[in-house]
Amino acid sequence: MVKYEKGSPDWKALEEEAISLLSRYLQIDTTNPPGNEILAAQFFKSIFDREGIESQIFESAPGRGNIYVRLKGDGSKKPIILLNHMDVVLADRRFWSMEPFSGVIHDGYIWGRGAIDMKGMGILELMTVLILKRQEIPLKGDVIFLGTADEEAGGRYGVGYMIDQHFDLIRDAGVVLNEFGWIYVRDGKVEHYGIAISEKTPFWLRLTATGTPGHGSMPRADSSVNKLIEVLHRIIEYQTPIKVVPDVQNFYADLADFAPGPFREKLKDLKSALQDPAFVAQFTRNLRSNAEIRNTISVTMLEGSNKVNVIPPEASAQIDVRLLPGEDPVAFLEEIRKVIKDDSINIEPILAFTPTSASPADSELIQVIREIAKQYHPGAVVTRPLLVGFTDSHYFRKKGIPSYGFVPFKLADQDLALFHGNDERISVENVRFGIRILYEIVKKLVVD
Ligand SMILES: [Zn+2]
Repeated sequence: MVKYEKGSPDWKALEEEAISLLSRYLQIDTTNPPGNEILAAQFFKSIFDREGIESQIFESAPGRGNIYVRLKGDGSKKPIILLNHMDVVLADRRFWSMEPFSGVIHDGYIWGRGAIDMKGMGILELMTVLILKRQEIPLKGDVIFLGTADEEAGGRYGVGYMIDQHFDLIRDAGVVLNEFGWIYVRDGKVEHYGIAISEKTPFWLRLTATGTPGHGSMPRADSSVNKLIEVLHRIIEYQTPIKVVPDVQNFYADLADFAPGPFREKLKDLKSALQDPAFVAQFTRNLRSNAEIRNTISVTMLEGSNKVNVIPPEASAQIDVRLLPGEDPVAFLEEIRKVIKDDSINIEPILAFTPTSASPADSELIQVIREIAKQYHPGAVVTRPLLVGFTDSHYFRKKGIPSYGFVPFKLADQDLALFHGNDERISVENVRFGIRILYEIVKKLVVD
């Protein structure tokens, strides 16, 4: 028997519900480490239970929880996974003007660590599932809600675990909707819809120098610490070559018309424009732009002696390397060896994903987002930025399941600074808008 949609949803009531749920969700401290995402999974489970929606929690390690829900469709379309990570990064309350886990609603914003990354999206995804269930909407494809642990530390206990241990639950998915990518606002006006189809790959390295230990009162030129400092100096002096991958070339061309006068023509063909050193200097002043056109290296962790008067036998540094799509980690390691010019240094990868290819640049999901953009913001450009960070999308892309980053929040530069920043918050208006847009996207994909 065919079921028809029972009237249209009461959006006003749903908006208030979403705002209050997000406020409660932000009060759950899922700082990773240690994560404690099980508390967030139980929060979601209690809501699904109340709604009569079956959900399963998977505990990947003590305190590390993942939650899985599947609304069944008739199978005429492939399932969509609504993915959200439930962990957040550390919030140092000394630098916040509100308690980071208060979920307080103030000045038109819902405040709390995770509001923007990505508990806000988690609530939009929850609301979509609740609306589909309450309206008894017949689905063509299944809708899977997947709340996961550990994204902020690499995803081993979250998506990594679900793919390793429970892939049977998700292998039939046709597409994943994940974080990053948003509706970008410039000078109060929506400029573009960004859908992330590719990201850089982390290739984190530990460099270890060894040397004869001794007493700090008798310096040795060849100590482990001195050797390490020398090679690190070469690394920070080194400029990785500029490489404009097609996604980046297209992204800047798509948005060229919004750029200030002298930039406009150049951005239409970034690759050629970057032949000019003066333009390179200008362009790379923006740290994100710089990271979009080269492999990057940040020296972040240092370890030497733990006593000031002891020359240690070993000193090490960890460096955060991010590779552009299509790069070969082995070749990059060779590049680093050439730069440091010291064979006695041990270099060991500590986090290295196999670089994955981008999700298809044209797909039904992108088409649907284009339609939504046209409907709500007719002048906005729909484009595909390269993500310079990384998300859990690579796990799915590696399995051949296309994964896209798109969060239907309208964000300006000052909002983007809140990712992992102080005073993280999302506007109430964005939550009101976001639940409608996400619901419409999912409906167009699995209902219409
Ligand atoms: Zn995130």
